[in-house]
This record gives sequence, structure tokens and C-alpha cells, in this order.
Amino acid sequence: MKKEIYLDHAATTQMWPEVKVVMEPYLSDKYGNASTSYDIGKEAKRAMENARRKIADAIDANPEEIYFTSGGSESDNWAIKCLAGSRKKKGKHIITSKIEHHAVLNSCEYLESLGYEVTYLDVDEYGLIDIQNLKKAIRPDTTLITIMYGNNEIGTIEPTQEIGNIAHQHNVIFHTDAVQAVGQIPMSVKYQPIDCLSASGHKFHGPKGIGFLYAKDGVALPSFIHGGGQERGKRAGTENVAGIVGMAEALVLSTRRLRQSMRYVESLRDYFVARLMRECDGVRYNGHPSRRLPGNANVSFTGVEASALLVLLEEEGIRASAGSACNTGETRVSHVLAAIDVPKEYAPGSIRFTLGAENTKEEIDRTIQAVKNDIALLRQV
Ligand SMILES: *Cc1c(COP(=O)(O)O)cnc(C)c1O
Repeated sequence: MKKEIYLDHAATTQMWPEVKVVMEPYLSDKYGNASTSYDIGKEAKRAMENARRKIADAIDANPEEIYFTSGGSESDNWAIKCLAGSRKKKGKHIITSKIEHHAVLNSCEYLESLGYEVTYLDVDEYGLIDIQNLKKAIRPDTTLITIMYGNNEIGTIEPTQEIGNIAHQHNVIFHTDAVQAVGQIPMSVKYQPIDCLSASGHKFHGPKGIGFLYAKDGVALPSFIHGGGQERGKRAGTENVAGIVGMAEALVLSTRRLRQSMRYVESLRDYFVARLMRECDGVRYNGHPSRRLPGNANVSFTGVEASALLVLLEEEGIRASAGSACNTGETRVSHVLAAIDVPKEYAPGSIRFTLGAENTKEEIDRTIQAVKNDIALLRQV
């Protein structure tokens, strides 16, 4: 059997081996509840606060600005629902984009059901929001702008600096879903006008079911889960100590390896895309040519159904996605590809390949050969 090739790093990533090692003690003898006063409890608490400091350092934040959550979805829900809720006296208008992750879009939809108004900004053919449109969308009753840092389907990196500056000129809070960016590209909240940021451990080689929300000092972040006093009374529940420790280790390692891995992954991706464009007919590269996440290669093929191509690729051990993972099994064009107006002869044959640092040129060569064979086969029938 051929070795498996994993090209779906936007869906999740494999834990670094070092992460498992640091988590292990907290899954066995260091089982203490961090809220207790005896040795193993204090040890858990220390490990957790140490992890909080490491995570803060990695994004240039202060430890008091980091709140642990169960992942990116929870961080998005918390920021959007609670910040909109706490500012409803000022107004009930929120601005977001049409290409957000469903954790953001569905949180906004929920707020609409409660009487909030949401503006969903269009994006251009590359997936970028228009700053002039954003300016025009701001109203006296706007309280929150939530726009993602890097898109999970097409990799486009939004102009967060400009977005944040505009938000602050109008006394509006800026939240960004940075789940695809943290650990993949350099991230410093100190030098960026970001008030609130969501991240998730399993997207940067940490464990699943753990993430964090950054809320800048001075942003009054309301409580999300009511109960005990954990996370400064804002997010109750006995902490996932092993997950927290693992996530911190993963982010430290990802940040340390970033400089090298980013360039490597980007050049591997560019090689992959250049060869596909050169060697296949009827192929289209979706997203921005340069303002994009290093590993993202979203490509469309004419005369091919993405789901059929994925089946053939999987037979050869190659794992990738059509659109976002949440849309598996549907041939419906994703909301992101619809928003960037992928021509209708291309849209149904769109595949998201997302590369990581452990991928090799040999794997990419094998994938290119497989894609070429498979699309030729599918176009015959
Ligand atoms: C994966 C992802 C999420 C959800 O994160 P989970 O930790 O899986 O809940 C949110 N936003 C984006 C952009 C993502 O890629």
C-alpha cells in the first residue's frame, strides 16, 4: 500500500510528537483539579498559568488577556454574542463578511433572530473585503466588526490593520477569527489594532477541543459560561489542563518553526500550483495570488465533480477537501466560492489542498500525477 499523503491542514493538523509528551503527565498522575489547594491541584494551576504565559508571549499579548476555550468555534461564539450583547445599549448593528467560517456566520444569524442587524460585506474576486465598503457600512449603532484574519477555504488574508484602524476611529470593537492564521503566519496583537482574536489548538499541531480567545486589556469581555470562578469568572468549568498545556507547547513550537516552515510550505505550494496550471487544462487557482496563507492551494477543474475527484484521490491515499470540511457530501458550491464568483464551469470541481511543513516534494509530485490521471478519467465519462 502507498503511503498516505495528508493535504488537509486547514481541517486539522497532526499533533507534534513533543505535544503528546508534555500532555501525558496531565492525563495520568498529575490529574489534579486546578482549583484545589493541595499539591497536584497547585501543580495543575501552575502548569496552566505557565501555558497562558507561553501563549501570550507567542502573540505579544499579556497573560491576563488570554482566555481558554474549547476551540475556535467557542471563541467566535463568545466574542460575537457577548460583545454584541454587552453593547446593545449603544446599538445592535454588526458588520462581518460573506466568507466567514460558520462559527461566525451562524453566531451572527443567531443575533439577527434576537433583533440585531448584521451587514455581510461582499468580497472581490480574490476574497478581499473593500475598505471603502466597510467605511460606508459603519453606522452610529454599529458596535462590532468581526472579519477573519485568513480564510479557511481560499486562504485569502484580509486587511486587518486597516479594518482595525477604521473600527477604532468609530469606537467599534474589532474581533478577528484568526484560527487559520495563528501558528501559520507571524502574529502580534501588540502592533495590530485587534481587540479580540480567536484561535484553535488543533489548527497548529496541538490537541483538539482546546482553543483560546484573546481580549485586549480594556475590552470588557462579558462572561460566557456561568458557574465557578475559572478564567476570571468568565468561563466556568474545570479546565482541560492537558489540552491547555499541549496547546501552549504546540504554539511555542509552531512559532519557533514558523520562519522556516512558512517559506518551505509556501514554496512547495507554489510549485504544486504552478505545475497544475502548466500541466492541466481547465484549471483555475482560487483566492489571492499573493495575500494568502502559505499552505492553501484552492483549485478548480472544469468537467469534474469535486466529490468524485476526492474519492479517486483517496484511493491513492491522498486526503484533501472540497470547500470546507463542514460541507462534506454536498456538491453545493460553498458560500466562499460563491462569494468570489468562481465561474459555474469551474465551481463544482473545486478542491482545497492545504499543505503543511511535514509534506515533501515527492508527495506533491505524486499528488500532481494523481490529479492529472484522475481528472482525465473523470472527463472521459
Ligand atoms: C477550524 C476553524 C474554526 C473552528 O475551530 P474549532 O476549534 O474546530 O471549533 C473557526 N474558524 C476557522 C477560520 C477555522 O478554520
